[in-house]
Amino acid sequence: MARSIGVTIWNEFRHEQQDDRIAAIYPNGIHRAIGDGLTKEPDLAVRTATLDEAEHGLTDEALTHTDVLIWWGHKAHDEVTDDVVERVHRRVLQGMGLIVLHSGHFSKIFKRLMGTTCDLKWRAVGEKERLWVVAPGHPIVEGVGEFIELEEEEMYGEHFDVPPPETLVFVSWFSGGEVFRSGACYTRGAGKIFYFRPGHETHPTYFHDDVRRVIANAVRWAAPVSGPARVFGKVEPQEAILSGAR
Ligand code: ZN
Repeated sequence: MARSIGVTIWNEFRHEQQDDRIAAIYPNGIHRAIGDGLTKEPDLAVRTATLDEAEHGLTDEALTHTDVLIWWGHKAHDEVTDDVVERVHRRVLQGMGLIVLHSGHFSKIFKRLMGTTCDLKWRAVGEKERLWVVAPGHPIVEGVGEFIELEEEEMYGEHFDVPPPETLVFVSWFSGGEVFRSGACYTRGAGKIFYFRPGHETHPTYFHDDVRRVIANAVRWAAPVSGPARVFGKVEPQEAILSGAR
């Protein structure tokens, strides 16, 4: 049997503890809801980490055992220490997968990896979102239909200030008229990154079967491969160089 994929679900976990309406939707936190969605997946070994744990639960030890890190944050991006951001960044370049959800677009780690503002338009009134699959052969949409429909979500609209995705998997339409590149794949170093838009804290989005399916698929897609170690710097030639032979 294949080795299991170590998944760490990181959540800021503030809204759920400070707002009763949000606690009513996610009584155990967004991280537990996402985790519950992954428990049906026998090949995934899931743990969680939150902002208020020591080193935000993202110690060297924890990250060493993390193949794919899932990130949800919103109101406390600035409280994530630069040391932890540096550590996560280094692990991504080494090959750790990273799945950035919803308002994580403004996290320090995503902005650092993208190199742009990652800004966008938004409107939080609870409108319909239809995420159209635009990469039908991609592993992230395994088992998904032509689109995913969410009855009530926050709107994110273009322009989304990110580099052009290497693969665009979803484009969202909102009932207010905007569109958004809502599922985007990147590579940085040896690491694979997937940005997935839905998941505003006042809607039960992370209980939606298709959203859970996409996150599970994205974990498998982003998991590191046991490829060659990356080698840099001055090296000896592979064989004798015949200088002046011609
Ligand atoms: Zn939101």
